[in-house]
Amino acid sequence: MLSLRRLETKFIKGIGPTRAELLEKELGIRSAWDLLHHFPTSYVDRSRFYTIRDISATGGEMPHLQLRGRFVSFNVLGEGAKMRLVGLFSDGTATMDVVWFKSIRTIRNMYGPGRDYVLFGKPSSFNGRLQMTHPEVELPEKAEAASPMRGVYPLTERLRKRNIDSRFFHNVIDGLLRATTRRLVDPLPRSIVESQQLMPLDDAIRQLHSPTGASELQRARFRMKFEELFYIQTDMVARTRRRKGLAAGYAMPRVGHWFNTFYKECLPFELTGAQKRVIKEIRADIAGGRQMNRLVQGDVGSGKTLVALMSMLLAIDNGYQTCLMAPTEILATQHYHTIRELAAKIGLNVKLLTGSTRAGERAVIHEQLLDGSLHLLVGTHAVIEDTVEFRNLGFAVIDEQHRFGVAQRARLWKKSTIPPHVLVMTATPIPRTLAMTVYGDLDVSVIDELPPGRKPVETLLRYEKQRLKVYQGVYSQLRQGHQIYIVYPLIEENEKLALKSLEEGYENIRETFREYEVAFVHGRQKAAEKDYQMQRFVSGEAQILVATTVIEVGVNVPNATTMIIENAERFGLSQLHQLRGRVGRGADKSYCILMSKYEIAGETRKRLEIMTSSTDGFVIAEADMQMRGPGDIEGTMQSGMPFDLHIANLATDGQIIAAARRAAETLLDSDPSLSHPDNVLLAKTIREIASRSMDWSRIS
Ligand code: ADP
Ligand code: MG
Repeated sequence: MLSLRRLETKFIKGIGPTRAELLEKELGIRSAWDLLHHFPTSYVDRSRFYTIRDISATGGEMPHLQLRGRFVSFNVLGEGAKMRLVGLFSDGTATMDVVWFKSIRTIRNMYGPGRDYVLFGKPSSFNGRLQMTHPEVELPEKAEAASPMRGVYPLTERLRKRNIDSRFFHNVIDGLLRATTRRLVDPLPRSIVESQQLMPLDDAIRQLHSPTGASELQRARFRMKFEELFYIQTDMVARTRRRKGLAAGYAMPRVGHWFNTFYKECLPFELTGAQKRVIKEIRADIAGGRQMNRLVQGDVGSGKTLVALMSMLLAIDNGYQTCLMAPTEILATQHYHTIRELAAKIGLNVKLLTGSTRAGERAVIHEQLLDGSLHLLVGTHAVIEDTVEFRNLGFAVIDEQHRFGVAQRARLWKKSTIPPHVLVMTATPIPRTLAMTVYGDLDVSVIDELPPGRKPVETLLRYEKQRLKVYQGVYSQLRQGHQIYIVYPLIEENEKLALKSLEEGYENIRETFREYEVAFVHGRQKAAEKDYQMQRFVSGEAQILVATTVIEVGVNVPNATTMIIENAERFGLSQLHQLRGRVGRGADKSYCILMSKYEIAGETRKRLEIMTSSTDGFVIAEADMQMRGPGDIEGTMQSGMPFDLHIANLATDGQIIAAARRAAETLLDSDPSLSHPDNVLLAKTIREIASRSMDWSRIS
C-alpha cells in the first residue's frame, strides 16, 4: 500500500510526465494511490443501448450513453485549428455526426466503414445536428466482455482537450489494478471492518472502477464513504478527548458580583428553561480548568445574546476580560447597544471596536484592554487584528460562526497564552449529523425553546396579481403603528441589475406609501450610510425598511410585524427562515409574505410550502438539505470546514456519519491512543489527513 502512495503517476503505464503534470494540476492526483481513489461519479448501464432517434426526440441534451451502429463515411472539414474529422454514424434509426478535433489521421484509419461499433459518450446538438465529440469507440465483443457498468469519471475541460477521458482513467486504473498482485492493505482496523460489515478496501476499489453489479457497487460506495467519514470522526473525537483531558484552560469557578447583580437587578424577564440549561452547561464547562469549545445552536429569537452575556459575566466575575465578535458592523453595533442597555445598571465597561472606530476611541480601547479595565469588547473582525492586545482575555464569543473561519478561531487563541474559552453561537440550524461533522470538535448546546408568548409568524405565499391585497394588509399594520420590512434578493451575478430593481422597488414603495417614512439599506452603501438608514428604522423614525439580505441576521425590531420577501423563490430555505426571524419578535401577531411574480409549481413551490407550513428552523434546514443537497449549506460553511470530502455526501449520508461517529467512539474507548498494532495504520492515515488540513487552518 505504501508503495502505491509513493508510486508517482508519471511512472504508471499509459501516463508519462506530461499527463502526470496535467493530472496533478487539474485534479490533484499525484500518486497511484490518488488515482485509485479517483472514482466515477456515475455509471452507465452497458446492457442498455439508446437509438439515435430516441436521442433526437430529446433535443440531444442527454447524459453519457451507449449507441451501437456503423460509420457510413468520414470527412475532414475545416483548416488549421478548426480542422476536424466528421464521421457519419448510423444505427438504422437515424444518423448523427461523430466529431474528432485531434488524432484525425489515426482515427480515420482505425474505424473502417461496414463494421459494427459501440459508441460511448455524451450527445449534444450543434447547428441543429445531433453530434457526439470524441466518443469512446469499441468493438462490440470487447464492450460485452467488460463490466456491466461503465464509470463516468469527473474531468475538467483541459483534460478533455488533451484526450484524457473516462476511458483513459478506466484503462490506466484497470492496468494498475492488474499489475497490483497483492491485495491493497486496508487502513481500517479489522475490528471496524468486521463490526460494520464493510467490504474490504481492495474489493471496494475494484468494484468502484469496474462494478460487477448494482448491489456490489452500493456496498463498495458505502465502504468508501464510511472510511472517509470514519477518519474525520475519529480525528474529531480524539481531539475533543485530548483537549478535555489535557488542554489547560482558565479555571472560572466563581459566580460573583457581576453575574448575581445582573441576575437580580437587570434581567428584564424570566430566563427560559433552555437558556438556564445552556448557561449551566457553560458554567460547568469553564469551572474546571479545561478549555471550553462550545457551540450554542438556537433558532432565531431564542435569546442567544442573553446567554452569551451571562456567560461573559461569569468570566468577568473571575477576573477575566471577554469579547464578542459579530460578522458585520451592523450586528456588532446592535450587540453593543443591546448589551449596554441590559447591563447599564451594573456599570459594566463595554466598548465597541469596528473598522470605523475613530483613532481616539481606538486608543482608549487599546489602553483599557491592556490595563484590564475594559470588561467586554464587542466588535467585528477588527477584534482579532494583531494590534489588539488584551491583558487577560478569558472568554470569547463568536456570533454566527459560519462567517468566521477556523483560521480566525485559531487567531483568537493566540490572543492569550492559555487559550480562552470559546463560545460559538449560530442561528443557522444545522442538521445534527452535519453539525457532528462540521463542528465535530465542539461540544454542542441547543436552545430549543423560544421565550414565552411568541406567536408563530403566519407565512403566506402570494403572487403578483394579489399585490394590492398584500399592500392593503401592510397599510392596516402601519395604521396600527407597526413597522414593515420589504426584502429584495441580491443577485450576485448581476449586481448592477439587482441594484436597479432594488432602487425601483424603493421608489415604488415610497410612491405607494407616501404618508410613511421609508429607510433603504443595501450592500453597496458605505457603512455610515447603512448605519444611518438602519438606525432610522430601529428608532422607529422610518416605518418601512426596504433592504437586501443585509438584514438577514440579528437585527431586532420587535415592533416590526410584517415582512414581504420579493422574488422569494430565489432564496434558499434557510435564508428565508433567517429573514423571517426578524418579525414575530414582539407581542403582536406577525406576517411573512413570500411574493412570487408567477404562479410557481413543482420543486420551487414545494420548497416555499415548507416555509408556509413550518416555523421550526431544524425542520426547515433538514428539508432544505434533502431538497437541494448539501452544496449550499456547505457553501455557507466552507470557511468553517476543515476538510474536503471526496465521496461522502453530508446531506444524504447522515446515517453513515452517525455510525462512523459511534464506531470512532467505541474504538477510542478501547484504544485511546490508537497504539494497538491493529490500529497503528489508522493512526498514521489520520495524521496524514490531519496534517494536510491543519496547514490550511494555519494560513491566517
Ligand atoms: P437570537 O437567539 O436570535 O440572537 P436574541 O438574543 O436577539 O435572539 O433575542 C431575541 C429577543 O428575545 C430579544 O428581544 C430578547 O430581549 C428577547 N428575549 C431573550 N430571552 C428572553 C426571555 N427569556 N424571555 C423573553 N424575551 C427574551
Ligand atoms: Mg443573535
